[in-house]
Amino acid sequence: MEEWQEAMESEIARTGHQRYRQLCAGEHPDHQAWRARMVQKRPSGGEYPSPAVQAANLAGAVVRAVRSAARGKPVLVPGAVYQERLAICRQCPEYDRERSRCRQCGCTTAKLTLAAERCPLEPPRWGAVIRESGPDLDGEPAAG
Ligand code: SF4
Repeated sequence: MEEWQEAMESEIARTGHQRYRQLCAGEHPDHQAWRARMVQKRPSGGEYPSPAVQAANLAGAVVRAVRSAARGKPVLVPGAVYQERLAICRQCPEYDRERSRCRQCGCTTAKLTLAAERCPLEPPRWGAVIRESGPDLDGEPAAG
């Protein structure tokens, strides 16, 4: 049995979520991410970034929000953009449904309300609506 299979069986036993079998099956478009997620979810795999990294992520988000406000740009996204982002996160293997948090950055769904924020994956699954300089992005993923 491969490492991801063992991890998946362990996670199913822990949570009772049989759906992991479908998500990890070869025909699922995100199966590689889900298999990696299963391995990562094991107790030794580290559930979230370290507190220091999470604090740095939060500080970065605050700085970007303050800069947006200082430039006269919107700090928050419209409700429709928030719902779009949330729908994407809910389909993502990095999204922790029990805690409503992203395992990649450790952020809560509050991050989804901020216009200058983006998904931490490369490439991002959803982008910033505004950026540090230049024209706004109308929801296109921001580079960097
Ligand atoms: S922010 Fe990105 S990585 Fe995190 S849960 Fe949402 S889509 Fe997934």
